Amino acid sequence: MKHRSAIPPAAKLKTAILPAPRDDGSETAQVATAKPVILSEASRLSLSRRILARRVAQSKDPFSLSALTAVFSSASSAPPPAAHSHLRKLLVSALAFCLLGCKSETPAPANAAQPPFMSAVAGSAPQDQAPAPETTDGFDGAKAYAQVVKQLSFGPRPAGSPELAKLQDYLESELKSYGCAVETDSFSADTPAGRLPMKNILVKIPGAKPGIILVGTHYDTKRLPDFVGADDGGSSTAVMLEAARQLCKAPGKYAVWIAFFDAEEAVNKEWKDPDNRYGSRQMAAKLAASDDLPKVKAFLLVDLVGGKNIIFARNAESTKWLVDLVWKTAGNLGYGSIFVKEQLGASDDHLSFTARNVPSVDIIDLNHTAVYWHTPQDTIDKISPKSLAIVGHVVLESVKQLQQK
Ligand SMILES: [Zn+2]
Repeated sequence: MKHRSAIPPAAKLKTAILPAPRDDGSETAQVATAKPVILSEASRLSLSRRILARRVAQSKDPFSLSALTAVFSSASSAPPPAAHSHLRKLLVSALAFCLLGCKSETPAPANAAQPPFMSAVAGSAPQDQAPAPETTDGFDGAKAYAQVVKQLSFGPRPAGSPELAKLQDYLESELKSYGCAVETDSFSADTPAGRLPMKNILVKIPGAKPGIILVGTHYDTKRLPDFVGADDGGSSTAVMLEAARQLCKAPGKYAVWIAFFDAEEAVNKEWKDPDNRYGSRQMAAKLAASDDLPKVKAFLLVDLVGGKNIIFARNAESTKWLVDLVWKTAGNLGYGSIFVKEQLGASDDHLSFTARNVPSVDIIDLNHTAVYWHTPQDTIDKISPKSLAIVGHVVLESVKQLQQK
């Protein structure tokens, strides 16, 4: 992850903020061009959003009034007057969202005697235990939790690392053990750390009619010292593994493809195009070249979904009708207090598909995860089997809804 924004941008403002991703096929991951840094108005605002991410990450109270006010002050010097009122609205919305759901979390103290991924593996408190799988469409939150633990056993897993190669082997063998048909795409990309080998993994469940429902996650972790990404990379990969175990058993009207993207994370500290989304840009370009892309009816992305106090705001960069479908589905399942109506911005792998006009939605909690996001504290003790089960349930039911369209 992900460049984050507290701002629910109006379409106009969003255009001003987000640099247009060069996702037109000329920019498959093999081509990365360094661009001179020009601090334009838009990039100054973008910078202030990244400052927000950092400040919030460092704050014990994400979206605290002081953090937001500071960011608002720094951001408000950048945009033109028309955007200024959007920012004001955004500030109000973000504060309202905070009042609804912000909780203060204290990062767990590091245990110097153990490697970070082994700290607090002991298990979950009763309130975090997964519900019985028969109440969540067969999705087993305890199994998903075990898949997070398994990923952490490989250690930090940045793109191009031997540890990630071990996870790739594990994902392939695990998916095949569910009876899933698995395709892989090995490629390499020029990054700020040099040319790195990468691999996308794609499960293809056939359908009776033309049309593809795509769901996905990134499985790499951010290149930071001692960073194991229990939530950022681990949780959503676990949800997709467990969803695959269910979905591969029961093909439907339309094909369901489950994507495991490599290298969502920026190699540099900052998440700045084109240093991010290497895997999803590669897959989107490949699907476009093979004429499969127009068959994709919807793309459902999950990321940072395993926290103990998950609340999902509607992602501002997602496709409205698809957000509506997923949020309505979640509400009907009784998760209306988790999938809330407030809106937040977050850039993620879905941008590789929205750039090519594929309806896309990102289910992501960048609010309550901010205290440990991209820090060595993103460890297994932050993960709730119950949260994994809720998200898995919503994914499976949303796929069912899309199968009926
Ligand atoms: Zn990340």
